[in-house]
Amino acid sequence: MGLFKPAWMSKNQARALASVEAMEDEATLRRVVAEAPLENVRIRAAVKIDDQELYKHYARLEADSHLGYAMAMRIDDIDFLWEFIRRESCTGVVLSNIRDRIDTLTAKKRDAENRKKLAEIPSLNDIARLVDIATSDHRQDVGCFDQVRVYGAPTPRSTEDNMREAAIERLAELGADDALIEVAHDQNATLSNTAEKAVAKITDQRKLFQLASDDTLGWHARKAAVDALSDRALLDQLTKMTSQHGPLELPIEKAAEERIQQIRSEELCHGEHDWELTGLEYGGLGEYAYYRCKRCGIERHEVNRY
Ligand SMILES: [Zn+2]
Repeated sequence: MGLFKPAWMSKNQARALASVEAMEDEATLRRVVAEAPLENVRIRAAVKIDDQELYKHYARLEADSHLGYAMAMRIDDIDFLWEFIRRESCTGVVLSNIRDRIDTLTAKKRDAENRKKLAEIPSLNDIARLVDIATSDHRQDVGCFDQVRVYGAPTPRSTEDNMREAAIERLAELGADDALIEVAHDQNATLSNTAEKAVAKITDQRKLFQLASDDTLGWHARKAAVDALSDRALLDQLTKMTSQHGPLELPIEKAAEERIQQIRSEELCHGEHDWELTGLEYGGLGEYAYYRCKRCGIERHEVNRY
């Protein structure tokens, strides 16, 4: 009888694995998992079945075996995995790998929930809720530590980044200036660059003037307020005010002066400048050409690489 044993019953692992590899019938695969003498052969057959209930069954039944571990590493049920590692006999590499799996699954679940919330933001009307989203702590983002910032490359965006931005968009749509101003003052928003995005959505010139001169606000948010100002009288008032406050307010004074020059230039030239070459320099990268507009006086430079 033993002569006609199926190949998967073989003690020759290569032969048994090859037979499982070729196997299509699920009932036979289940038999292999239950009865094959070699553990690797059982694992291979189980993986081919792709059935979470089967994985749980063997993870429970043979928790401390290679099979049990291999099954646990394919289980998506977070509560089940917590239970699996709570056993006293679960230690070392197995414990830390399952822990990692729990973390990955938890992050994926949270990200999926966030994507759902993100889709709902454009129709939210609850201002307080929108402010909460916009001021969420970016250090708590899913995958925050995976988002390595590489110089010269675009900053990776998380789902939460998109949520904060969508909340700002929605607040602007609802005309909720006071809420945008609240966001601009929030510590989390300042750290995640949401503050300046909130300020950039405000169009009321008086409010922008107030934000630009508010020294309880972060520099980037104040600069965003200056850049959104188009009222010449208010910009003049801002330069006057900041110049009286001395060196601490210099960055805002400079930003206001630049904004005034920009507005003047737009009015005079409407984007069509009359460039005049004012200088040439030779540096490591190539030739630097400096230009100045004959009408409005703004300057620019070009690098012609060697
Ligand atoms: Zn010009």
